[in-house]
Amino acid sequence: MRLAKRTSNLFRFGRPDTGPGLDVSAFDSVIYVDETERTAQVQGMVTYERLVDETLRFGLMPLVVPQLKTITIGGAVAGLGIESSSFRNGLPHESVLEMEILTGDGRVVVARPDNEHAELFRAFPNSYGTLGYALRLTIELEPVQPYVRLRHRRFDNAAACFAALDELCSTGRDGDARVDFLDGTVFHGRQMYLTIGTFTDTAPWTSDYTGQEIYYRSPSRRPIDYLTVRDYLWRWDTDWFWCSRAFGAQHPLIRRLWPSRYRRSDVYHRIVGFDRRHRLSARLDKVRGRPPQEAVVQDVEVPVRQGPEFLDFFLGEVGITPLWLCPLRLRDPVPWPLYPLKPDDLYVNFGFWSSVARRPGQAADFHNRLIEARVDALGGHKSLYSTVHYPREEFWELYNGPAYAAVKGEYDPDGRLPDLYDKCVR
Ligand SMILES: Cc1cc2nc3c(=O)[nH]c(=O)nc-3n(C[C@H](O)[C@H](O)[C@H](O)COP(=O)(O)OP(=O)(O)OC[C@H]3O[C@@H](n4cnc5c(N)ncnc54)[C@H](O)[C@@H]3O)c2cc1C
Repeated sequence: MRLAKRTSNLFRFGRPDTGPGLDVSAFDSVIYVDETERTAQVQGMVTYERLVDETLRFGLMPLVVPQLKTITIGGAVAGLGIESSSFRNGLPHESVLEMEILTGDGRVVVARPDNEHAELFRAFPNSYGTLGYALRLTIELEPVQPYVRLRHRRFDNAAACFAALDELCSTGRDGDARVDFLDGTVFHGRQMYLTIGTFTDTAPWTSDYTGQEIYYRSPSRRPIDYLTVRDYLWRWDTDWFWCSRAFGAQHPLIRRLWPSRYRRSDVYHRIVGFDRRHRLSARLDKVRGRPPQEAVVQDVEVPVRQGPEFLDFFLGEVGITPLWLCPLRLRDPVPWPLYPLKPDDLYVNFGFWSSVARRPGQAADFHNRLIEARVDALGGHKSLYSTVHYPREEFWELYNGPAYAAVKGEYDPDGRLPDLYDKCVR
C-alpha cells in the first residue's frame, strides 16, 4: 500500500509504485488556527505553502518551515525536515502536540507524548509512512514580524566559519541583533557565508528573488538585505536552492521566458523525475562519450565540532558545490528513537544535491557509500529521503532496529505497510 498524493519531495526515482494507492488528497486543509494558544489543527497532507498562508494572516508561523513549498506537514514529520530556525526550535516533529494516525492495522488512534500511544508518537518521526499515516496534527506556532533583515557574513576558512556558527547558536546574538534564523552556503573552501536572519517591524527596502534576481547569488552582492517574512520563508524554493541552474532557469534569457508561476521546486522535481525514469541525461552522456554519473543528493547531520573535518573530506573526495549549511539542536531533552541525535549537541546539516562523474572501476554507489561511512565515523546521521546504501544490519544499528520492531509489531503486525529498510533502501 502507498500514499496516492499529487506531490512528493522524495528523491528515489526507482520503479514506479504499483501497490494499491490510498487516496488521501482530501486531507489537505488547515482546520483551525488558535491565535491565543498559538496552535493550529491541520490535516496531514496540507502543504507548508498553504499552512504558512493561513498562519501568517494571524501573524504566526510554524516553528520550523521546511524550504520547499509542497512539503506537507505529514511528510515533514514522518520524513523529517529542517530549516534555519532549527538551532532554536529543533525539527518540525518537535512542535507537534498530538497526531491522529491511521495505523497499518487499520485503526485510527490519537497519539500524544503522554498517552497509551506515546511509543507510536515517539517512533513516528523518520518512519516514512511505514507505521501509519498522520491524518490530523495539532502543532505549535510562533509570532512573526513583517520583515526579516539578513546579514551575510563571509568566511575564508572552515574553522572560523564553524566557530562563528557555534557562537551564534549558543549566544543567540550577532552583536546587537537577535539571531532568529541561521543558515549558510559554501561556494568553495575559501568562500563561505553564514546568513543571520532577524525579524524587524520595518525595512528600508525589500528584495525580490522570485523575478530575475537569484537568491543564492545575493550574499556576495548584498551583505545586508531585507525580505518580507513570506519571501524569507520561500527564499530557497524559487530556484530549488541553486538546482534550477541544471534546467537553464538561471540563464537571463530563459529566465525571462520561464513563467514565474513555474519557477518553483515542485516543477523542477517533476522534470528530474521524468528525466530519471526515462534515463534521458544518462543516455545523452553515453552518446557524448561522457563518464557515467552518480547522483549524490543527500542531507547529513554532523556534530558542529566535526564540521571542518567533514567539509574538508567532502570538498576533497566528492567536490560538489555549493553546499547548504543549517545548524540544529534538538528541542526535546529526550532523543527520538528512529533518528537518535543527541539532545544538547549542536549539529550542522550539510545539503548537497548534484552528481559526480564515476571513474572506471568505481561502484555505482561509490561516493554515496564514502559519505555514509564518513558521516557515521564522525558521529553524524543521514536523512532517508533520498537514496540509501547501508547494508541491512548497519542500517538497523543506526536507525534503532529494536525500537522500530517493537512499534511495528504493535501497529502493523501483518506488515500491510512496507518495512522501513525495504522502503528506503531496497
Ligand atoms: C533536493 C531536496 C532537498 C531537500 N531539502 C530539504 C530541506 O532543506 N529541509 C527539509 O525540511 N527537507 C528537505 N527535503 C526533504 C523533505 O522534507 C522530505 O523528503 C519530506 O519527507 C518530504 O515531504 P512530502 O510531504 O513531500 O512527502 P512525500 O515525498 O510525499 O513523502 C515522504 C515520505 O513520507 C511519507 N508520508 C508522507 N505524508 C505522510 C503522512 N501524512 N503520514 C505518514 N507518512 C507520510 C511518505 O509515505 C513517504 O515515505 C529535501 C528533499 C529534497 C529532494
